Amino acid sequence: MTNKLKINPPLFLVSTNWPCWKCDTRIPLAALLAIKVDEINGDICKLTNITQLPDEILAFIQSRVPSFKYSYSMTISTKYFANTCPNCGVMQGDFYLHSEPGSPFFPMDKKEARALFMTEIPLTEPLWIEADYELGAPCEMIYTHAKRV
Ligand SMILES: [Zn+2]
Repeated sequence: MTNKLKINPPLFLVSTNWPCWKCDTRIPLAALLAIKVDEINGDICKLTNITQLPDEILAFIQSRVPSFKYSYSMTISTKYFANTCPNCGVMQGDFYLHSEPGSPFFPMDKKEARALFMTEIPLTEPLWIEADYELGAPCEMIYTHAKRV
């Protein structure tokens, strides 16, 4: 169900801290934001339900958020690269993190977008990632207002 996407540089790691839905510990979360994807005409998008990810990208994400890993989702009965809680181990599903207004990666306004951090992942050439994607206002909001670090 996911798409093989050709991602051209730049690709951004977006991160934040947020309470785990299960144990309420504040945990680090990671997401990917792409702005030049061949299959999507120049729209900014968030990658979700990532099923295939080049090793160097995973290594970069894990250098900041080690609890981002290939995990089994009981919700959709498949594995994908997801955030997990370093305290209780529970997966923080992409739907929960991305898809509802006010979710950590679904900022509703400038202020919520400013609570996010954005880092460019060093890339010299295009790469392929298998994933779904989400478009729209939250992506623009993150791209415009997240703190560049
Ligand atoms: Zn937890």
